[in-house]
Amino acid sequence: MEIFTSVAELQSLNLRQAPEDWAFVPTMGNLHAGHGALISKAKTQARHCIVSIFVNPLQFNQQEDLTNYPRTLEADLAYCEKLKVDAVFCPTVQEVYPNEKNKFIVQPPHHLSHILCGQFRPGHFQGMITVVSKLLNWIPASILVLGEKDWQQLQIIKAYIEDFRLPIKVLSVPTVRENDGLALSSRNRHLSPQERKLAPLLYRGLWRARAAFQAATFAIEALESIALREESRLKKAGFMLEYFDYYPQSLQEAAASEAGIWLVAGWLGQTRLIDNLRDDDHRAPTPFIKEIMEDKNDVH
Ligand code: AMP
Repeated sequence: MEIFTSVAELQSLNLRQAPEDWAFVPTMGNLHAGHGALISKAKTQARHCIVSIFVNPLQFNQQEDLTNYPRTLEADLAYCEKLKVDAVFCPTVQEVYPNEKNKFIVQPPHHLSHILCGQFRPGHFQGMITVVSKLLNWIPASILVLGEKDWQQLQIIKAYIEDFRLPIKVLSVPTVRENDGLALSSRNRHLSPQERKLAPLLYRGLWRARAAFQAATFAIEALESIALREESRLKKAGFMLEYFDYYPQSLQEAAASEAGIWLVAGWLGQTRLIDNLRDDDHRAPTPFIKEIMEDKNDVH
């Protein structure tokens, strides 16, 4: 496995000569099985797989979150090696943003970036797409693999690639979860044992909302009360909720698509969690889902 820390070194890899051979997985490190699923997908789609590991200061809207973000480079490199990744790009902040004065910023369209998480994390998607645009310039892979967990991020990156007509195919991978439904996330390690027990309630709320909306035969009038009911359950359980919402699956399409997606974001103590559930996502650990539908164990 090759490890690159500078753009110049990376370019020596000569990716440009055969971008069709490469699939790219951008990450902020602290790799877990969610990232692992992206890497596995990448490996089935192209001859070579390159992973970037970079905690991008530009997309953190709270200094404390940036400072506390887990950095585990050694373990991450070992994980990549184990998964037979071909190359890792792990630059310093200085390498990515060498000149504060000459820094270019990419501005995503308002309708994509000021909804959902964008309302609560000013500048986040701007910072995210700025670094992604740099990475896509330096790593001209033909396939980009992203997680569905960060659904709004996925929409913005897809829209960026479309607008710039980049020759890159975006593949998305369903969210990898713990057995109790909690979406794997680098931030989960900040949860106290008590918070960790409560955290899967987010996913339960999504399931319940989806089932209720289906039962209401997708009548738009039912949306608000369903969302409010789940919000209030989660608040009672101890979450500080930012949103609980329903959107069409493609924010880009003019005509509303049939299938939608439920999305939620909230805080448990000092930890911000997000999750989502598509109408047409039928994967789930069966006993867990059965419990939810029968409302067993649901003390909240
Ligand atoms: P991050 O390192 O959190 O910035 O995430 C890097 C990539 O991994 C993004 O495309 C995420 O959507 C994806 N990802 C993070 N967590 C998961 C998960 N639990 N399942 C699938 N993909 C994930």
